Amino acid sequence: MTDTVITGGLVVDETGERRADVVFGDDGTILAVGDDLSASRRIDAGGCIVAPGLVDLHTHLRQPGGEEAETVETGSRAAVLGGFTAVVAMPNTDPPIDSASVVREVLALGEASLCDVAVAGAITIGRKGETLAPMAEMAALGCTIFTDDGTGVQDARLMRRALEYAGDLGVRLAQHCEVDALSAGGHMNEGEWSSRLGIPGIPAEAEELMVMRDIALARLTGTHVHFQHLSTAGSVAMVAAARQAGLPVSAEAATHHFTLTDEACAAFDPIFKVNPPLRTPRDRDAVASGLADGTIDAIATDHAPHPTHRKQQPFDEAPPGMLGLETALALALTELDMEIPAVLAAMSWRPARIAGLARHGRPVAPGEPANLCVIDPEATWTVDPEASASRSRNNPYAGRELRGRVRHTVVSGEAVVLDGEALR
Ligand SMILES: [Zn+2]
Repeated sequence: MTDTVITGGLVVDETGERRADVVFGDDGTILAVGDDLSASRRIDAGGCIVAPGLVDLHTHLRQPGGEEAETVETGSRAAVLGGFTAVVAMPNTDPPIDSASVVREVLALGEASLCDVAVAGAITIGRKGETLAPMAEMAALGCTIFTDDGTGVQDARLMRRALEYAGDLGVRLAQHCEVDALSAGGHMNEGEWSSRLGIPGIPAEAEELMVMRDIALARLTGTHVHFQHLSTAGSVAMVAAARQAGLPVSAEAATHHFTLTDEACAAFDPIFKVNPPLRTPRDRDAVASGLADGTIDAIATDHAPHPTHRKQQPFDEAPPGMLGLETALALALTELDMEIPAVLAAMSWRPARIAGLARHGRPVAPGEPANLCVIDPEATWTVDPEASASRSRNNPYAGRELRGRVRHTVVSGEAVVLDGEALR
């Protein structure tokens, strides 16, 4: 066995922070944490934070069916460059991940990829909201989280049954909260900017009504509901109240919802089209505060690659979605009023726990899995979409200067990123 030491960093994990070297073996475990350690290989972490690898609850890897936009391989390379050691792949692929055979296919692709790929199964067959998918079969293959992401489960009775079923199976339901009847035909946030631009809007209430309903269903069933990519001040307030009432809910926010607003759509550039849409400054601030005070548990990327020719269609014809894996950590460190341990909580151990990923977000200690990222918190860099490892280029942050850069990433004892470069 070959062992490697990460030297000179500040270790930050759920248990606190301390200066220490970290030795891991290529068997995938951490062997020692302490002062002045040596090993046959050395990785420099001077001036850096050594943390458990990041975990993304919301990644679109586009396989099967969307290989023109992304593959499990290219998406996982973008992930490790962003410091992620595990991602949860969303099921809105073609075919959708709504059966054991498609779960097996994506898991097999994940086996060969640079990070751990967890697979979210669909709640309903075809994500059509009509019939429950074979959740037990998919859970038996390792799916711990289920969602119809891209759409919300419209039928309250079916959602109730899905929750009861998920409770029995010990898996988690995640909801893309959107009442179709209110959002149909909309392409951006409904408000001042949609009126000015003449683009049909999606009201905040399209999201909030489903958040409200699912909080009620969490109360009715006693089963945990995870809210995906919350975008409105009203949603954040309802989740805060539900938590205060002791209801089993958790929530994530996507990076773009605390960094961008609907004003960005003013030039009709579809790069800023996303679902749920970019909202008002008030909503953006509420999402940021919700993260800072812990109402929102996790930062997710909602990494949603699209080929350039599709994204360059007129605003109302272009598909929603933007890249996120390579910029999420730096955006959080640059834009949020949160200390580094709080950002890491929202990007590593809390999402790992929500997704049930037992080998990620773990303390940096002997015997634990060697899934680690090394971050230079002071490094500044400028976002260049052409430099992305993703197969797509729909990055809305081109030219933006950010602080905080991933220097090294270790997955299961293998250094997959060294000095900002992916090794395969
Ligand atoms: Zn979604």
